Amino acid sequence: MKIKSADFIISNTDVSKCPKEQLPEYAFIGRSNVGKSSLINMLTGRNKLAKTSGRPGKTQLINHFKINNNWFLVDLPGYGYAKVSKSIKRTFQSFIKNYFLQREQLICTFVLIDSRLEPQKIDLEFMEFLGEKEIPFVIVFTKSDKLKLNELNKNIQFYKKKMTSAVWEEMPPYFITSATNSTGKDEVLNYIDEINKQ
Ligand code: GDP
Repeated sequence: MKIKSADFIISNTDVSKCPKEQLPEYAFIGRSNVGKSSLINMLTGRNKLAKTSGRPGKTQLINHFKINNNWFLVDLPGYGYAKVSKSIKRTFQSFIKNYFLQREQLICTFVLIDSRLEPQKIDLEFMEFLGEKEIPFVIVFTKSDKLKLNELNKNIQFYKKKMTSAVWEEMPPYFITSATNSTGKDEVLNYIDEINKQ
């Protein structure tokens, strides 16, 4: 898929204020600093579409971008940032939950995982939440340029083992990406394109 247009539409913390248009929607979420903004900018070819920030956890908004006038890319707040005070964290969690529970246009969620780290409890719990609620998702292993291929494969195998030894029969589809060298760009965009064509 070629990205012909990528337009910021709205930011908010209230799912009822998200765009009313019935376009298919794809959400991106992960721990703060996982490389979500960089990935969104890489996918859309727009350097500043999503704000990369040196302050993880700062932006706690649901951001809608309209792509090719045809689908929404949704940038969700990073989760699991310890310095967010408890009360802020709670609000954040409930509006994110509401988004997942109420947003009918949501087709698929891309859960970003830092390919260098061993499985983190918060990510596994988040994916279990999606599974329980039957919300389709795939995994994106980010920052793959930071690892040698054998290390990357080892980490992914370890992830598979961890997921299948817990609640999952198998690991969901996954992508390997790098915002630095555009690894995975075509794969992710073609995946979205294929679903949109169905
Ligand atoms: P976010 O908080 O999840 O939106 O993360 P950012 O996109 O702001 O990235 C966090 C940090 O990781 C920044 O310093 C980025 O430059 C760096 N980063 C993000 N993606 C990649 C990547 O694919 N490769 C490398 N080497 N660094 C990355």
